[in-house]
Parts: sequence; C-alpha cells; structure tokens
Amino acid sequence: MLYRHRTLDTPRGPLSTPVLFPVRNIGKRSTDNTPEYADSIPDLPTAMVNARAIRRRKPQWERLQHEATLREEMNVPEETIVFADSGGFDFHSEKLDTTPTETLETQQQIGADILGTVDLPLNREYRTEKKQRRIQRSIEYALTASDSHDGDELLFASVHGYDPETIRNTIRYLDRNGSFDGFAIGSLVPIRTDYKKTTKLILAARQATEKHLHVYGLGGIVYQPLLLYLGVDSFDSSSFIRSAGNRNYLLPGFGGRELGKIEELDRLPCSCPVCGSRTFEEVRADRGLLTIHNLWALAIELRRFRYMVAAGEDIEAYLDLRFRGNEVTHRAYLTAKQQVRRLT
Ligand SMILES: [Zn+2]
Repeated sequence: MLYRHRTLDTPRGPLSTPVLFPVRNIGKRSTDNTPEYADSIPDLPTAMVNARAIRRRKPQWERLQHEATLREEMNVPEETIVFADSGGFDFHSEKLDTTPTETLETQQQIGADILGTVDLPLNREYRTEKKQRRIQRSIEYALTASDSHDGDELLFASVHGYDPETIRNTIRYLDRNGSFDGFAIGSLVPIRTDYKKTTKLILAARQATEKHLHVYGLGGIVYQPLLLYLGVDSFDSSSFIRSAGNRNYLLPGFGGRELGKIEELDRLPCSCPVCGSRTFEEVRADRGLLTIHNLWALAIELRRFRYMVAAGEDIEAYLDLRFRGNEVTHRAYLTAKQQVRRLT
C-alpha cells in the first residue's frame, strides 16, 4: 500500500493529509448552492475554487477587489485553506483567455493558499498531435508560473498525459526546471471509467515524485479509497453537489443511490448530523440537506480509511471487502493492488 499521512504547511497553517478539497461553485452564476460545511465537518477546513470563474463574474470580482474577502463571499471561516485551480477545465478551445501570470495574480488577489498552474486539459477524442501540443503548452505555462511566483503560497504544477511515461517525464522535467511544492494530475475525469488506465497514470505520478500529489476531479465516493491506497495526498470533488441535484444519496461502500426509487423507508442508514435526526422523507425532499449528507459521506469515507490505518488493520483486506459489491470497481481495485505489489 502506498497510503501516506503527512502535514502540508500552507500559509494559513498546517493541513493534515490525505485530505479532500470540496469544490465550491463560487463564481459560477447558476449554481451558487454549496452549503456551509466548514463549521460542522472539522476535518475539511478546505475548499477548491476556480480562479477563472471568479474573475469572470464581474460584480463579485469588484467586491473582492474592494470590500470583501473570498472567504466572506463563501461564508467560511478566514482559516479555510483554499486551493485555486486555474479553471483549465473550461479551456476546451485552443484559445486561452488568460496568461499564466494573470492567473497567478488572480489566485493571489483572492488569497488562495494553493495555486494550480494554467493548463490545457486533454480529451480522449483529441488526436495524438493535439494532445502533445496541449501537454507541451501546459508544461510551458507551469514553468512561466514558477518564474513569476514569489509569494508564500504553495504552487502545484498541473500535469497532463494519457500514458504513464508522459506523466513521469513531465513531472521529472518540471521538478528539474521549475520550483514547485507539488503536482496536480488533470484530465482524468474523461477517462475515469477506465480504472486500469487511470490507476496506472496515478501510480506513475506517485513514483515520479515524493512531493505532494493532488488528483483533480476524482475525489468522489468510489474513487476516494483507491486514491488513498495509491498514495495520493489530496483530491477534490463536486460530486456531493451534483449527486444531490440528481437526488442521489452517497453511501460509503455502495456509491450513489437514487432515493426516488425507494418507496417505503423511515430512516436513512447514516448517523451524520443530517440523517441522524431526520426522517427519510425530510432528507429526500431537501436538496440542501442531501448535499450536506453527501459531503459527510465523503468525509466519513476518509475517516474510516484513516481509522483502519491507525488501528493497524489489513487495508488490502478492508478494500477487498469494500469493493465486493460492485464488479467493476472490485476489478479496478484488484488491478491497482497488483500494480502496487509490483512496486513495493
Ligand atoms: Zn447522512
């Protein structure tokens, strides 16, 4: 097992890892519905925001420059550790509407603690040549950011590639030629159902660096235990919001379940502050409550894994049991296990 427990020193204080950065949709006009969680889930003093979306939303950007802090706008404590990605996921065209330096300025102006470099994500449909071009440009943007960055914030280079060698070489090249506190692997969301490929890419990254490793976009309920097993230090997810929108109830060990399909039930099988005291109907009827429960489900998943490690339990046996219920993810875990065993 490659799981590791560390402390990441951020400008806002130490952060115990591995950890989840819940995605905050601040800046995105239509979906400003992230619930408050910072006070109720103490082990998630974290948030992931999209620097580009915030800057493009003019009234908010005005307020942020003059009267308000980002954390006030999000209604979270000032100690909240914020990871601002560049918003690369929106750059599906070849035209970039920002520069590495402008993104860095935005990330610093909003008071982010961790800055992800500008990147051009890949799509599996792209031809090899186009993928190469985008990978190369992401490398150049990361190095430009490294040259312009002189603050206390942590700088994570965003890394892309659809084969292990590219991931490994990119990380090593960036480490030699720039100054980065960690690396963040992107472009995995479009290939996430190809578990074998995805875990190979993550393992290649883990092998290429001892530094902090973040995985963009895969911190949902199914992937999280795999990421922990593979030694990933942090991940982010918006699945708790999206699932709630579809009335999906996240359950550790089971994944998402549609509440609409259940006819008769008094109570839900969870003891979080949402489900513990409410009836099934109350939770099902309220999207905000569902969102908070779903975030709790992610936090509980992480707590369980940490507990199993701290208690000295056999993690491989635990995961074997956890993934039993779903053939696809069970196979994925077995593949990951083989790959890890070859390394250790
Ligand atoms: Zn719950």
